Amino acid sequence: MCGIVGYIGKREAYPILIQGLHRLEYRGYDSSGVAMISTKGELNIYKSKGKVDALEHYASDKDLSGTIGIAHTRWATHGEPNDTNAHPHYSQSKRLALVHNGTIENYTVLKVALLKHGYTFVSETDTEVVVQLIEYIRDTNHCSLFDAVKEATRQIVGAYAIAVIDKENPDQIIVARQSSPLVIGVGEDEYFIASDATPIIEYTNKVVYLNDGEVAIVNRGEPLHVFDAQGESKDCIDITELRMSIEELEKGGYPHFMLKEIFEQPKTLADCISGRISSDGKRVVLSGVVMNKEKFLNAHRIIIAACGTSWHAGLIGKHLIEDFCRIPVEVEYASEFRYRNPVVTEHDILIALSQSGETADTLAALELAKKKGAFVFGICNVIGSSIPRATHSGCYIHVGPEIGVASTKAFTGQVTVLAMLALLVGQMKGTVSDETLHRVASDLRRVPKLIKDIFKMDSQIQDLAKIFTYAHNFLYLGRGYNYPAALEGALKLKEISYIHAEGYPAAEMKHGTIALIDNEMPTVVIAIKDNVYEKTVSNIQQVKARGGRVLAIVTEGDEIVSKMADYIIEVPEIAECLTPLLTSIPLQLLAYYIAVIKGRNVDQPRNLAKSVTVE
Ligand code: GLU
Repeated sequence: MCGIVGYIGKREAYPILIQGLHRLEYRGYDSSGVAMISTKGELNIYKSKGKVDALEHYASDKDLSGTIGIAHTRWATHGEPNDTNAHPHYSQSKRLALVHNGTIENYTVLKVALLKHGYTFVSETDTEVVVQLIEYIRDTNHCSLFDAVKEATRQIVGAYAIAVIDKENPDQIIVARQSSPLVIGVGEDEYFIASDATPIIEYTNKVVYLNDGEVAIVNRGEPLHVFDAQGESKDCIDITELRMSIEELEKGGYPHFMLKEIFEQPKTLADCISGRISSDGKRVVLSGVVMNKEKFLNAHRIIIAACGTSWHAGLIGKHLIEDFCRIPVEVEYASEFRYRNPVVTEHDILIALSQSGETADTLAALELAKKKGAFVFGICNVIGSSIPRATHSGCYIHVGPEIGVASTKAFTGQVTVLAMLALLVGQMKGTVSDETLHRVASDLRRVPKLIKDIFKMDSQIQDLAKIFTYAHNFLYLGRGYNYPAALEGALKLKEISYIHAEGYPAAEMKHGTIALIDNEMPTVVIAIKDNVYEKTVSNIQQVKARGGRVLAIVTEGDEIVSKMADYIIEVPEIAECLTPLLTSIPLQLLAYYIAVIKGRNVDQPRNLAKSVTVE
């Protein structure tokens, strides 16, 4: 994972690099560092274990001059998070400095070869091998830094986005990418480099997304030179104009991004739906689906490949698509799918579901399916990211930048897009009636308002969080459409509060998990009025009979569960297939408030990073 930032231009580089690192901290935050060529011509590297604040503190009394620099916030894959393993890394002669996002698979082989050539290594990282290799190639071939980087990228196997600077040439940064994202912001006589556009947007909205295999020469005050995977200079460089606003990247008065993002959901879902459901609720349009109508009409099967929270959204997508389209759906952990030999044919559609659009496993799963002839469709949030660019078609969830590491608004955005996709394909196939489409699409339009109603229970949820903070283990139960919502509720709690929680299909509990129930282990049950309501009521009774404490999410006005459960949270009534969009909201808030009471770092929980761009 990790975040890369770079700057070359007329301004002081340091403040831009530090601000950029803060913006990218969601990608990794175990250590960080900067490398700058000072006004005296020195190549200074400052790095520090911990968050970017620690780096700022460490660097505060150092020479921070220079108008060229690269920086990095790390999520360690090779070597523990410490000062030495932090990036940037020097080459042997200390002439070059490099930052890297990704993993180098053949680094041991390369390292052995470089050791034989007299190179020594100070860190345990795979990254240091890359900078030493570049220096070795340059010194032996007497070539330019660009040629050395190009040759090095030919020799390294794995995923990388790299930026390299050379002390002897303070007017140049060389960047390259393969499977890890890299964006170049184009300003007036200045360039910004970053893993995503968030550090760039406050300076320029013109960006160039580097493609796999590309290497670029970023020279001060000169036009950008991009070379494709074949080494050919690109005559025409694709400049994208972004519409992201800086306010979207700020906390806007909330104590945490996660809370801001939870409370943004009425707006983000309205944006997600906007222009896609007609005002009379009778038509749903997703252009990526409409343009590929035949593919969807003729699909024998849909495979949804995803990880983490997106995988939970995918499970809800399976229910929706099977209900409305009568197409069999399999939901795959992308990381498992890609490493077996799955049966995929040209009659299949693979939907790659990923907030960041950079999830390495999901990207690999879609490439595999593409190779086997499937039609691949992306559902992502980050515009211009790798998955949307690798798929045949797709649609964005349009929920704006999600910075909190625990996903909230992206989850509901994914479910909303999957619901629209299922309705649209169902209508095209004739497997969903106009009446059902109208009812569900109209309900979908009501979701933003209904979520606002749930927010009225915010203080009640805060009180419940106080009651339940004591617990070391939680069970989350749900059935049908709300089984994935239970999984997601449990994941939210685990991620940010570090309390163990298990999501389970309510009826499965009696086949084993029920042994865990006692008065120490709270059970959160989603018991809304759906077609298995009575069965869920029985499951609650089974928990209560064993002394368990129950917090139930119920439909407004419920009189049965409210008598049985210890505590309830009511959600408004809505079409059953859309209930996860409502039941997940109190579970997000519950996890958030428990984590806050426990003093956890909600936006940057330990060991995690937002977009998992490594395997
Ligand atoms: N593999 C590199 C390291 O462990 C970079 C990891 C990353 O992308 O964060 O230092």
